[in-house]
Amino acid sequence: MSSGGRGEGAAGNKQEQPEAAQRSGATAGTAAGAAAEDVRAEAGQAARLPSLDELYQRYERFNRLYFENLLPRADDVTIEWSRRMTSAAGRCYTKRRIIRLSTHYHEKFPEEVDQTLLHEMIHLLVPNHGPLFHLWLRRIRERGGVVQRYSRERATPAKYRWEYTCRRCGAVRRTQRRLAHGGKYHRCRQCRVGVTEKRLEP
Ligand SMILES: [Zn+2]
Ligand SMILES: [Zn+2]
Repeated sequence: MSSGGRGEGAAGNKQEQPEAAQRSGATAGTAAGAAAEDVRAEAGQAARLPSLDELYQRYERFNRLYFENLLPRADDVTIEWSRRMTSAAGRCYTKRRIIRLSTHYHEKFPEEVDQTLLHEMIHLLVPNHGPLFHLWLRRIRERGGVVQRYSRERATPAKYRWEYTCRRCGAVRRTQRRLAHGGKYHRCRQCRVGVTEKRLEP
């Protein structure tokens, strides 16, 4: 694969607005369109992160390598960097075919861009983390791909103390307060199976 152009555009292009990102929430509850524009405007500032072009190229390659081109063509999906996304590494809006990746998270863990992208790509086929999702995880790994069920941590640390993992599907729920009886009677929303409790390090 060639990464034509090497994506060095940002380096020679020093704009005079370093803190454009720090606008004071002027448009709380803003329209999605405006948010999307911000996303694109800010994408160039993350020098260590792959450009959108590069992401689309990886999407095409992953689609071929791991999904047998079952996913929509790159032209038919939207991939975005988001500075606003602080609650997760990535997000997929299945019906709208939008994949959004957190700059915060990936500036911290740049080596995880590909696996987040792959994870969100699965969501284009499977909106949840159920058995079918896991089937794809396995399939991708069998073909040498690296993909995770969950990102390492929230992009912005929250004060979660407890983690409950479904014994069947592996879905994780984190809470600040311990569930009653250590989650003994808690059930996974999807499979209604019990969970295992883990205390998170502060
Ligand atoms: Zn997911
Ligand atoms: Zn479950």
